[in-house]
Amino acid sequence: MEKMYLNGQWTTGHAQETIPVINPATEELLAETPRGTAADVEAAVRAARAAFPGWARTPGAERANLLHEVANKIRAHEEHLIHLLTTEEGKPYVENEEELLWTHNTFDYYAEIGRHDRGRVIPPGAEGQFNFVIKEPYGVVGCIVPWNFPLLLLAWKIAPALAAGNTVVIKPSEFTPLTTLKLIEVAFDHLPPGVVNVVTGYGDTGEVLVRHPDVRMIAFTGSVATGQRIASIAAPMMKKLHLELGGKDPMVIAPDIEMDVAVRGLAYSALLNAGQVCTSTERVYVHESMFSQFSEELADFVSKLKLGNGLEPDTDIGPMLRPHFRAKVDDHVQDAVRAGARILTGGKVPAGFEKGFFYEPAVLINVDHSMKIMQEETFGPTIPLMPYKTFDEAIALANDTQFGLGASLMTHDAKLVKRYFEEVKAGTIWINDPLTDNYAGPFGGMKMTGGGRELGQEGFDQFTEVKHVHWDVEGGVKSYWYPYGKE
Ligand code: NAD
Repeated sequence: MEKMYLNGQWTTGHAQETIPVINPATEELLAETPRGTAADVEAAVRAARAAFPGWARTPGAERANLLHEVANKIRAHEEHLIHLLTTEEGKPYVENEEELLWTHNTFDYYAEIGRHDRGRVIPPGAEGQFNFVIKEPYGVVGCIVPWNFPLLLLAWKIAPALAAGNTVVIKPSEFTPLTTLKLIEVAFDHLPPGVVNVVTGYGDTGEVLVRHPDVRMIAFTGSVATGQRIASIAAPMMKKLHLELGGKDPMVIAPDIEMDVAVRGLAYSALLNAGQVCTSTERVYVHESMFSQFSEELADFVSKLKLGNGLEPDTDIGPMLRPHFRAKVDDHVQDAVRAGARILTGGKVPAGFEKGFFYEPAVLINVDHSMKIMQEETFGPTIPLMPYKTFDEAIALANDTQFGLGASLMTHDAKLVKRYFEEVKAGTIWINDPLTDNYAGPFGGMKMTGGGRELGQEGFDQFTEVKHVHWDVEGGVKSYWYPYGKE
């Protein structure tokens, strides 16, 4: 059995049961992790609480150096982590190289923000006053992470949380805990005990963390349903919440864009990580003048992509994580077909794989907004295409969703670009380069996606609460104090 990391010690804690971790490409058992209990969460929170005052007082420059050391240690163990990530999560090796790059760079990025940012001095309201705003850490932050980018999404939480002076208790996904445990083992052993803790387990273990009164903030990435549950538990406790939830991102393809740019850009943004990306393009609106040729070229391109084990260098698309996620994707495809959609390619479990949870990427036409595939998060390799006539119509379709995470546009027409970023309700707008992030650019959603932001200065500020200090330096009696009505 793997071990959890509590108060600087590797332990199986009070766990009586284990959780199997399976390679989605081969279905082989990779390891078993402890099913953390309430007592384990208690021990982790106690350790994080005890470590907090010391960590919060540590000078910013020293914390920055410690976080740069984390980044360097991750780099030193990169190859092992990329391999483990590929076997545990399933996406191709080259995509996991990217994930690792993002992971260590995020620690470097927030090390520097934490080094210099403590707040600001503001102009006084009257002469003789001195006013300033201090950014303070919350205390113990519970970080609950999903499985699709287990290291990157972890780094986006714990790097700013630690840089701001918080201590953390991590609950990784039950499907992908091994990379988190390895990351902590190789890159965090120089931090004081209790600053970082990991409790493994299912959602019920995460829920104990959410309910714990000493956890002042929950940073969560995952599904809307889990986010809603967490919010309902945390609201009466006035806990600070940072929620990054699901999406149903649109892409609009304008008629001026080159066909190959649109085909390859769309295939990448819809099928990266087998479509298991919160910002996957899940709905596509193509100008009617190019619709027919575009659908054919896209279907042809997608049908030639190679499915396989992510460890094989020529694999384009890996497996889905588990059969039940694949079943949901197939349900969306079949629901669309029953309502009149036509599959141009894929849309089924491929032949020729004895093991692994593969799904042939699907390109569909004749879809509309009454279908699940155009309304609910599919989270798999599907590309439903709909024609539009006017740009007004395209914008209305893009906005016809309960979600607001990302939205893409493919065009060289600056007038369309301006309208798109002004009128589409989404946290990130991508023009001609979908899914590309920027360390300094905030990432997060609007509407049912939740309002959190990761990355950028905003991603740091989420982990601080502000205190305004109003100081009358002279300290004399004020004319507006009691008693009233006298000189
Ligand atoms: P999930 O909600 O099932 O699980 C996420 C995490 O929450 C896991 O660690 C899980 O064990 C834990 N959890 C489950 N129930 C809990 C509870 N009651 N209390 C506390 N913790 C609980 O999501 P998932 O299937 O792991 O991830 C896929 C989802 O994540 C998709 O909806 C996707 O869009 C979303 N996602 C969003 C972003 C973003 O930045 N907006 C990024 C990646 C993934």
